[in-house]
Parts: sequence; structure tokens; C-alpha cells
Amino acid sequence: MDLYEYEARELFRDHGIAVPDAAVAASPREARAAAESLGGRVVVKAQVRTGGRGRAGGVKFAADPASAELTARQILGMDIKGHAVRKVMLAQPVDIQAEFYISYVLDCAAGVFLAIASAEGGTEIEEVAASRPEAVARIPVDPRRGVDAAGAAEIARAAHLPPEAAPVLARLWQVLVQRDAVLVEVNPLVRTASDRIVALDGKVTVDDNARFRQARWASPEVVHDDVDPLEAAAVAKGLTYVKLDGEVGVIGNGAGLVMATLDVVAGCGARPANFLDIGGGASARVMADGLTAVLSDPAVKCVFVNVFGGIASCDAVADGIVQALESVHVTKPLVVRLDGNDAARGRAVLAARAHPLVQQAATMDGGARRAARLARRGV
Ligand code: GDP
Ligand code: MN
Repeated sequence: MDLYEYEARELFRDHGIAVPDAAVAASPREARAAAESLGGRVVVKAQVRTGGRGRAGGVKFAADPASAELTARQILGMDIKGHAVRKVMLAQPVDIQAEFYISYVLDCAAGVFLAIASAEGGTEIEEVAASRPEAVARIPVDPRRGVDAAGAAEIARAAHLPPEAAPVLARLWQVLVQRDAVLVEVNPLVRTASDRIVALDGKVTVDDNARFRQARWASPEVVHDDVDPLEAAAVAKGLTYVKLDGEVGVIGNGAGLVMATLDVVAGCGARPANFLDIGGGASARVMADGLTAVLSDPAVKCVFVNVFGGIASCDAVADGIVQALESVHVTKPLVVRLDGNDAARGRAVLAARAHPLVQQAATMDGGARRAARLARRGV
């Protein structure tokens, strides 16, 4: 999960990294009040989870609260690389002497943590790395050793950062470890006119697998407001759901099977409307939640339920589907393929229920073909 700049800023502050005083606003009026409380002159910054806001016009100076209100009015509602701006952060401006870049990232391909640092911060680091690779230091970090004072000094030296940046490097490593992040980035880290080292912009990606032990992000309801609303509703119910562009709703048990199902549906000339893995157990409750989520997508024309009874037995899954049919208002055709443990009994359970909108398929390919045909017909 990527955090907003204002969330990253709070983490930095809590770990002793200096950040400008700031406040968040969702309306021009709030922005004015925030500017007043910050002393009048502010930087107004679009809060979107993508970089390059400055260049896109999402970072602007305002001389007083009235112009902060006007500026916020311009920036709120802007579209930055496909992200709608719903909040701005107002920050006390900083007099910049020099801009640096520092980050730690988990390099999954190489299986190491990397410290990446440069004395040429401010612009996007990829550009510096492309034009002057020698200006960007990349130093592997041994997670067992971490980044202590000596390690931080070494990184600062390699990247030609001032020695005063070293404590920030050590603290930023603590943010990564203690907040279960897979990326922490400060760009720019600046030296101010009064020789302070301040983090002006921050990017943090929290490891989703660790959300359960990070109190602030643990609840599935903590979904950022720029997420697709269908996805947000499904995730709030604990479902593993990803919205896609097509018209065949897909429900399956096990991520591998669901991914294969998406491929097979696409192979039949239809487009999947979503990825939804209801997991090994596939209880009635989860099946009902899953059906509700998929059917609430107006683009869905039919649903392909593809279940392989591995851990779950198919008759339990069929019971789940039958119970879900009682509680969910099914408005679109369902193609159900049951195979694996107790498939014959599962099919019998569904056949006995004889729901007018439910048809069974004997194979995955057959089910996908039928679903694709139903979607084309647009029933
Ligand atoms: P980004 O474009 O999304 O990376 O947004 P940043 O927050 O990094 O801001 C872009 C640039 O705006 C920075 O690299 C700075 O040069 C400038 N900037 C941001 N805040 C301040 C500030 O308080 N004072 C000054 N002088 N410049 C700032
Ligand atoms: Mn930046």
C-alpha cells in the first residue's frame, strides 16, 4: 500500500526526521484556515500517490491565507497522471540551499535491500541515474546489520551528501523496519538556509502482508479514497478482489485457479470483469459476499464461478452457492463449474436447487465458453 505524502510525513516526524510544519485540507476553506494556522505563507501540495506533482502544477506557493484558498481551489480536483486530487497538504515553506535524494528499497529481483542516495535530488532520480549514473550511489544493506551510525555515514559519503544527512539515513532505515515498509524515499531531502536537514517530500510503500501488525493500516476498512469504489467495498469485506475492464464476472477458489480462469475467459474472446479469489474454504458467507461484490459491478453481464474442490469439498461449496442464492438478489446468469472432491454431490445439490439463472458446466473450458457467449449476447 502506497501512502500519501502527508502520511509519510507523519511517519518521518514520529521517527525524529525533521519535516516542515503542515496541515491537510479537503476544501479551499479548510486550506485558508490551515494557512492561517501555519503563519500565512505556505506551499500548497496536491496529495496524490504518484510522483512529478511539481511539474504537473500540483505544488504551488501562496503568499497569504487568501491566496492559499485560491490556489487550493485550483489544485483540488486536478487530475495528475490519472489521479484525482481530493486533498492538499499545506506546508510552511523552506529556504532551500541544496536538494538531495535518499531512499531504501527492497529489491525483490536481487533479494537485497538497497540504499539509493544522491546529492542531486529534487528531480526524478531515474533521470539523474540515466544521464549521470555516477551521481547516484547504490549500496546494498544487510538487513541483519541494518543501517547504524557507521553505515549511515558510509552511505552519506558514497553519495557525497553532507555528514549531517547521516542521522536522517539511520532514522529512515528505522522507518522502513519498524513500519514494515518495502520502500521509503525522501526527495528532496534539503539543507535549508539555516543549515537544517529537512525532509520536504516523502514516499512510503507499506508491505501489505504486514498490515495486520501495523495498527494504523491493520483494518481492511483503511482503504484510500482514490481506490475503485467496487474494490474498496470488496476489500472492506475481506475479499481478494481486483476490478478489471470486462463483462464476465469471475469467482474462483485459489489465486492460481482464478488467474487461469481469467486467461481462459479471455481465450474465449470475452473480457473478465474482475479477479476474485474466495479462498480455499469457500463458505456460504464468503460466496454470498463474493456474488454481491461481482453482481454490483454494472459492467458484469454474467458470472463464471469456477471452483475446484481441493481442501473444500464441492458439496460444501454447492451448499454455499445455494445459501448465497437465498440472500443475494441474482439478476444475471451464473455459470458454475464444480470439479474435484465430491464434485458429483456438489453438482447434484445445485441441480436440485434448479435456479433459473444458474447453469452448470462440466469443464473449465466449457464454462468459460458459455460465459463468453452469454456476455456477448448481453443478457
Ligand atoms: P514532487 O514534484 O511530487 O516530487 O513534489 P515535491 O514535494 O518534491 O516538490 C517539488 C519541488 O518543489 C521540490 O523539489 C522543491 O524544489 C520545490 N519545493 C517544494 N516545497 C518547497 C519549499 O518549501 N520551498 C522551496 N523553496 N521549494 C519547495
Ligand atoms: Mn518530490
